[in-house]
Amino acid sequence: MSSVASAPVRVRFCPSPTGNPHVGLVRTALFNWAFAKHHQGTLVFRIEDTDAARDSEESYNQLLDSLRWLGFDWDEGPEVGGPHAPYRQSQRMDIYKDVAQKLQDAGRAYHCYCSTAELDARRDAARAAGKPSGYDGHCRDLSAEQVEVYKAEGRTPIVRFRMPDETITFTDLVRGELTFTAENVPDYGIVRANGAPLYTLVNPVDDALMEITHVLRGEDLLSSTPRQIALYKALIDLGIAKQIPSFGHLPYVMGEGNKKLSKRDPESSLNLYRERGFLPEGLLNYLSLLGWSLSGDRDVFSMDEMVAAFEISDVNPNPARFDLKKCEAINADHIRLLDVKDFTERCAPWLRAPFAPWAPEDFDEAKWQAVAPHAQTRLKVLSEITDNVDFLFLAEPVEDEASWAKAMKEGSDALLRTAREKLESADWTSPESLKEAVLAAGEIHGLKLGKAQAPVRVAVTGRTIGLPLFESLEILGKEKTLARIDAALAKLAA
Ligand code: GLU
Ligand code: ZN
Repeated sequence: MSSVASAPVRVRFCPSPTGNPHVGLVRTALFNWAFAKHHQGTLVFRIEDTDAARDSEESYNQLLDSLRWLGFDWDEGPEVGGPHAPYRQSQRMDIYKDVAQKLQDAGRAYHCYCSTAELDARRDAARAAGKPSGYDGHCRDLSAEQVEVYKAEGRTPIVRFRMPDETITFTDLVRGELTFTAENVPDYGIVRANGAPLYTLVNPVDDALMEITHVLRGEDLLSSTPRQIALYKALIDLGIAKQIPSFGHLPYVMGEGNKKLSKRDPESSLNLYRERGFLPEGLLNYLSLLGWSLSGDRDVFSMDEMVAAFEISDVNPNPARFDLKKCEAINADHIRLLDVKDFTERCAPWLRAPFAPWAPEDFDEAKWQAVAPHAQTRLKVLSEITDNVDFLFLAEPVEDEASWAKAMKEGSDALLRTAREKLESADWTSPESLKEAVLAAGEIHGLKLGKAQAPVRVAVTGRTIGLPLFESLEILGKEKTLARIDAALAKLAA
């Protein structure tokens, strides 16, 4: 057992359900899940849906569906319940109201009546004078008279947390010791003027009540940590929290042009990976490499292997680059690792409408079973299966102009005629014999195999690239193969 955790581990994954999950969020879920499993701890799944306008029920359902698809499980949370239910913040509003009141009663939070215009003006003045530009503590200790004046003016206050005037130091599990001086962490809002509690309050309050021991989350939340630590201390004094959790901030994920991958970037959308036919295990394997690696730098591994090896102290604080090519390569390896039956089953969605261009009745199960092993070794993502096997189920091969232009050269008609002749008398139970036939045709026309097979491939499959040709011809069958060569010859003659 590692030194990080001796007491029972309780971690949480607590996204706001705003639409389609992005890969950064999945990486955070994965590291929390792996950490919990590695330490035989508890993963709490909490929905941070206090922002009612943004968080629709549909987003919530999408989020759950995505997490299930990825194969995550959680010990407490939606659908499974637990001792700290409910796990949706929208159902916990009374708790936050109560805690906000207790903080105010204890003098740890106060009403701030400053208007946005006033705050802006004072911030600009402070900046101009080269002073810290955060909230200046204006309302910290208002007199009863001043409060009456503000109320008479019709101002509605927000609630602000009173930061202690002290330096805050903590040891980040990924970044080591970090220090924030008091002037850089001003008093901050915890409840809006309309009474709505903010993330700054509800997130640490729930972490405290749910007895979270380790907070693993993205680096973008690092600046909120000193504020939250101060809030925990107040909650401990009030008997609401037992302990301050340890924090580990996971590195940024960078996209194209070395810019932070944002949830608005299309390539960060989980749905996109799902629709393209990434395997959950391939995608998770790749995402685990964004800040972490298995010893020996082995790139392809199972989630069980990751869980067994995962130490938060091994996470690299430097930004990680999202590399789609590598993600695809790792996914391809996972596709190859499936047993064939599993592979054929996982391809099923792409063999039907709306992906498949053939009529359902033209699909041929025996041909599919025969071709599947050849496809399995060549796909990067499952959605590629459709184009790779459509020649078997379409009445005529697709018309790919670029392929046709590339393969059909001067003399291709002569080559195709010879190839047809040789194929006619070949042994159609042996791909080797079909290869010999095309090889022999090539020799007659002074062409190596690669050049000789290109027009045959385009005539039969419509494309210059695809599955191993002679196995494909065998599976398609003699009659159809020869008819397609005839059709190509007719087209060349026209
Ligand atoms: N709901 C917050 C988010 O999605 C959680 C942040 C945290 O882990 O503290 O950004
Ligand atoms: Zn104020």
